[in-house]
Amino acid sequence: MKSKSRLVCRILAAAIAAFTLGEILFPIPAAGQVAPQPPAPGAPAPGPGAAPEFKWPDFQGVIKDMDAIPSPGPGSGPGIVTLYRYKADDPTKDQTKLLCEVPKSLLKQDLLLVSSFSRGSQAGMPGMGDLIRFEMLGRQIVIVAPDTRFVQTPGQTATDVINRTYNGEYLASMPIVTMSPGGNPVVDLGPTLMSGMGMNIPAGIRRELSQFTKIKSFQENVLIDVDLVVAGRGGSSQSTGITYDIRRLPDAKAYTPRLADERIGYFDTVRQDWNIKHNQRENVVRYIDRWDVKKKDPSLDVSPPEKPIVFIIEKTVPLQWRRYVAEGIAEWNKAFEKIGISGAIVVQQQTDDNEYANFDPEDARYNFIRWIVTGRAFAMGPHHSDPRTGQILDADIVFDDSMLRYNFNEFEMFGPKAMSAMLGPEYSRFLIENPAFIPMGHTIDEVQATLATPGSDLFGDSPADNITPTLRAHHMGSRYSQPCCEYASGMKQELNMASLAMAAAGMKLPEPFIGEVIREIVAHEVGHTLGLRHNFKASAWLSLDEVKRRRDTTDEALVASVMDYAPTLFFPGDDFSKVRHFITPTIGPYDYLAIEYGYKVPGKDDGDEKTMINKIASMGTKPELPTQPMKTRWASHPPIRPSTGLI
Ligand SMILES: [Zn+2]
Repeated sequence: MKSKSRLVCRILAAAIAAFTLGEILFPIPAAGQVAPQPPAPGAPAPGPGAAPEFKWPDFQGVIKDMDAIPSPGPGSGPGIVTLYRYKADDPTKDQTKLLCEVPKSLLKQDLLLVSSFSRGSQAGMPGMGDLIRFEMLGRQIVIVAPDTRFVQTPGQTATDVINRTYNGEYLASMPIVTMSPGGNPVVDLGPTLMSGMGMNIPAGIRRELSQFTKIKSFQENVLIDVDLVVAGRGGSSQSTGITYDIRRLPDAKAYTPRLADERIGYFDTVRQDWNIKHNQRENVVRYIDRWDVKKKDPSLDVSPPEKPIVFIIEKTVPLQWRRYVAEGIAEWNKAFEKIGISGAIVVQQQTDDNEYANFDPEDARYNFIRWIVTGRAFAMGPHHSDPRTGQILDADIVFDDSMLRYNFNEFEMFGPKAMSAMLGPEYSRFLIENPAFIPMGHTIDEVQATLATPGSDLFGDSPADNITPTLRAHHMGSRYSQPCCEYASGMKQELNMASLAMAAAGMKLPEPFIGEVIREIVAHEVGHTLGLRHNFKASAWLSLDEVKRRRDTTDEALVASVMDYAPTLFFPGDDFSKVRHFITPTIGPYDYLAIEYGYKVPGKDDGDEKTMINKIASMGTKPELPTQPMKTRWASHPPIRPSTGLI
């Protein structure tokens, strides 16, 4: 969400207010360098010859007729902020007004802002996460997003120049409208959130039609959902739901980051530290992204976790498949059990009337498995991590129903029209050299004509016009410029092939077959949410004879890792009634190793942490543990932080 269109305020902070978290120091813009602020609403006009005494408008007058959220009633503890709004059913009041009392204690604190789409064509797609801070500048509250890619260590010689070079961005500024009796500034969030702050929303938001649909403030986070109505072509308008979730970041000192090793594929949080000595090979620090899961009682060989990772299966997941989804999530408990943590992952089911009924998937405190219907066959398992340490804070998996509709729109996706649009002149040249492949109904003259007209193709004037909506949507990928996990998309082809193979035998795909595939894909996506990247060597582990033996007679892994794109399994002459598994039924040996690397705490025989993780990463010489040197990413310069990385 670090969009180029976002205004980058270039305040060169000469004076640095230090906010320290371990080695980390971020710049706070110097208030003295901000342009003079206009008087706050209601401030008295300056009299002749004397500076008037400034007074904030009366707090009670400003919040008159508004309700506080959370309400100060019994049982409702203090929220991270207190919000005030008019009764939603009162048409005489400005419903776009949302006053926010920001506690003084929250100013300059590191927070995580996650913005995601809750309705519209991108509904269910998880958003990016940015470290932000509320800061007071004159009579404004600003939302600052510091550049977290660079380590700034207090007292080090390079710190000042790092601050000057990599200053943060301002996402928003809001005039303070009053001060609470406790001295907390109050601002109106309405104009900021109704502008689609930080999101790629086209101009033309019709604020008079937009509305807040969800406003919740909890102790650890605040969740605000806004329905933005955007003017479209021909006078029509369309609404898009955006959820803003702002949460406290955990105490960075309470978590020990783990160094990344390119042999074990984890997503990473990469930061550059210009204070590292010049004789070091590089000045980039890489931490793996992982949860803070550890034994509740470290003295036990096997202990429950201090805090489990909880996944909630959303009520949108079809009843028929819930069992397999739950099994796919719980698969990973086997790997945690092996390093002494029992029940590291807990699975809950949301229904219309149970205790999870009103939990919001967009709420950063909960991890959801969601079923979506975009028409694109895909699944993805992104996460949000602490930009300072790589600690994973939440993850939501989306699974598109289209994967199971394996015959749906395949012709559109891979038919000649789409191929022509994709391949352009090369395709035409190929056809001229191989006329046998010219699609039925077309001639070689037509093909040659396309080459004579740049920009045209065999089936139309413009390649872009011929890319079908489905194909275009597929190749656009996500708006986050992150490659989607293609496993589910490829699995659709596997299901097609499987249905053909079974049709030849006079059968339809049985439910257990599809169930196993769902379980496998969910396990793969949950693996991503635990921090794991792909491992495309894992399916080359066993011989086909051994795969067949295991498939038909055991419940053992058929590939070394579910982080590969495992195929469905058919052999010539299969008697489908005797096939025990259609796809690898469980996590593989590499998965155990990867979890050990990321989550094991050194025991008495392991030496220190560095020694232990190096030893684990060195085990990749065994065939069942196909570690693979990952291309070192961003060797010299960290990127814009990909907090929802997927490959
Ligand atoms: Zn994947």
